[in-house]
Amino acid sequence: MGRIDTFCREAYIFPQPDRRRAGGLPAGPPMRVTEMDPTALPDFYDIDALLTEDEKAFRQTVRDFVDRECLPIIAEHFDRGAFPMHLIPRMAELGLFGLHVKGFGCLPQNESTYGRVCQELGRCDSGLRAMMSVQNSLVMLPIDAFGSDEQRRRWLPPMARGEAIGCFGLSEPGFGSDPGGMQTRAVREPGGFVLNGRKMWITNGPIAQVAVIWAKLENEVSGFLVEAGTPGFHATPIQRKFAYRTSPTALIRLEDCRIPAENRLPGARGLKSVFRCLNVARWGVACGAVGAAMACYQAARAFALERNVFDRPIGSYQLVQDQLARMLVEITKAQLVNHHLGRLMDRGAARPAQISLAKLNNVREAMAIARTARDILGARGILADHHVIRHLCDLEAVSTLEGTASIHTLVIGQEVTGLSAFT
Ligand SMILES: Cc1cc2nc3c(=O)[nH]c(=O)nc-3n(C[C@H](O)[C@H](O)[C@H](O)COP(=O)(O)OP(=O)(O)OC[C@H]3O[C@@H](n4cnc5c(N)ncnc54)[C@H](O)[C@@H]3O)c2cc1C
Repeated sequence: MGRIDTFCREAYIFPQPDRRRAGGLPAGPPMRVTEMDPTALPDFYDIDALLTEDEKAFRQTVRDFVDRECLPIIAEHFDRGAFPMHLIPRMAELGLFGLHVKGFGCLPQNESTYGRVCQELGRCDSGLRAMMSVQNSLVMLPIDAFGSDEQRRRWLPPMARGEAIGCFGLSEPGFGSDPGGMQTRAVREPGGFVLNGRKMWITNGPIAQVAVIWAKLENEVSGFLVEAGTPGFHATPIQRKFAYRTSPTALIRLEDCRIPAENRLPGARGLKSVFRCLNVARWGVACGAVGAAMACYQAARAFALERNVFDRPIGSYQLVQDQLARMLVEITKAQLVNHHLGRLMDRGAARPAQISLAKLNNVREAMAIARTARDILGARGILADHHVIRHLCDLEAVSTLEGTASIHTLVIGQEVTGLSAFT
């Protein structure tokens, strides 16, 4: 028998005879129903059984952290548009920073595990997931992969402890989907570089101690570490967002920002280095979206079981069952995609187009699931306390960041035709 038996209880419930008679319905045979634990998360194909004991234990640790410490406070932070800063030391304590880094106080895990951490945090809030995801895949990873020994020693230990936060500045006001067109320039001068340009939509920007800034140096995209507080570096929070409200997002201005020569990432070479980081970040987004979808499904199913309309739980109506079944089908498919892609990534065998497929599919389906859950919850669906509307708004942003649906479609199109639609 599968794991599902641990949270299902078979029960026989007789139709309510009085109401049936009142409605002129004949008394029927007992209806056989399965009582579901409303707190159970969907794992219809028992993917858990495919994880190692260590993977399961780590996932459970993160799941408990999310359930006990993050979910109870997140709606209020979303309301205020504030990141729950007090969670950063706890995330560090759990080893959630530096998941791709060996040494320097980090606890490296495989890519599958990184994906599951993104799923669990995304189940709570995409802004929370993004904070961790950027720190890991877009800051610590490039410092470790392309940085000097000195840069690794300087930044990785405090980042692992959550004492330093990083951000990743690639997009610009004029260039998002086409980062190769970036206008930000680095010019050599004796002892260092002068940076000029603007970086837009930078997650963690307002709270970061260090920014990985991508700029053209003699026409080649290069990476630079810029410390907050450096003269000419300005990170202004972007206000009035209706999505990603817990996530601090900045417009970064670099105005004659002078940095020492040793702040260049010596191993970073062109957009290839950028995409090495983005591929991992996109994988994290694909997993976070499934977490959001799981949360919406869980909320909708629990509500469908307890909400009576026309004297019966709405979950007993065929149309609502159709909605729940469709949600579960898409969640299960996306979980299977993630499990298999995670194993490919563990072996270093995943192609960028395979990551694009997961990001494209999982975010699209998560949005549809969030919308359906919102419908099932009726008017309550628009309240932050039920979480669904929060996920729905956040997923709008998730569909754009780390490559829009159109861009990932074109990446897949290029692989299946051998023809690039970008050039
Ligand atoms: C909440 C949030 C956080 C973010 N965090 C970061 C971050 O930390 N660091 C960072 O560098 N960036 C970040 N971004 C920026 C993000 O990566 C960009 O928004 C994204 O790449 C899209 O760029 P754009 O918004 O400029 O849209 P555009 O590139 O202007 O696209 C506009 C529309 O045109 C479509 N389009 C573009 N090209 C084509 C084409 N060839 N064919 C068909 N359609 C096309 C797109 O699909 C989209 O629908 C973040 C964005 C958001 C919303």
